[in-house]
Amino acid sequence: MRKPFVAGNWKMNTDSHSSVDMAKRIALGSLEIASHSVTVAVCPPFVYLQTVAKALSASSIAVCAQDVYYESKGAFTGEVSAAMLKDIGCTYVLCGHSERRHVIGETDELINKKVAAAISGGLLPILCVGELLSERKALQTSAVVSRQIKNGLAGLSAEKVSAVTIAYEPVWAIGTGLTATPQQAQEAHDLIRKLLAGMYNGKLAEEIRILYGGSARPDNAEELMAQDDVDGLLVGGASLKAEDFLAIIRAAA
Ligand code: PEP
Repeated sequence: MRKPFVAGNWKMNTDSHSSVDMAKRIALGSLEIASHSVTVAVCPPFVYLQTVAKALSASSIAVCAQDVYYESKGAFTGEVSAAMLKDIGCTYVLCGHSERRHVIGETDELINKKVAAAISGGLLPILCVGELLSERKALQTSAVVSRQIKNGLAGLSAEKVSAVTIAYEPVWAIGTGLTATPQQAQEAHDLIRKLLAGMYNGKLAEEIRILYGGSARPDNAEELMAQDDVDGLLVGGASLKAEDFLAIIRAAA
């Protein structure tokens, strides 16, 4: 049985006050939801990670960074290492979010180095994959997602990959209000699980959690979570309202 996992990606939103306030409201609101029934994480901007981690220290809610650099230290101005993130209380880190792939220009190779560095540094990476609308229309979803998974996990042993969570996030559904249908999500998740079984083994593929992301909201969370291979949700916009995020956590639990 895979434990459901809901993560809220705050992207470049909130400020020093609202980030802590939201974290506290989520922690309070999720008290009634048994922590053994759902894993919950929030992904604040870098500069608020530490204060949010402190605000959540007595709760079961984990802190997830939105990015990491692959080197461990040195002359890499503006970058942040896995050890630094671990040091201030992060458990998870997003790697290869679509905005980093398509706005910042990250490649599969760079993302692979980040996933590897995160694991070596004691973080649990959430590897994000997903196709553009043009790729879906050209029937390339399977090829694109398979390439992103194979390249993103290249060179990693099954033992290391067991630390990874996958997030399937079709780019056309992120921040657009367009959600993949539950069937489209299930189809992609099934493809990813089968791919992982072939790359590693059936046990790993059965145990790894695959989240769906792309305009997940309180009103569609339940039907997405009802799919066999949808193990959780990576939530952007709806995670910025504590009540909506809590409703999604309840739907997933
Ligand atoms: C995301 O940022 O990963 C995301 C899925 O955003 P949204 O829920 O706003 O589509």
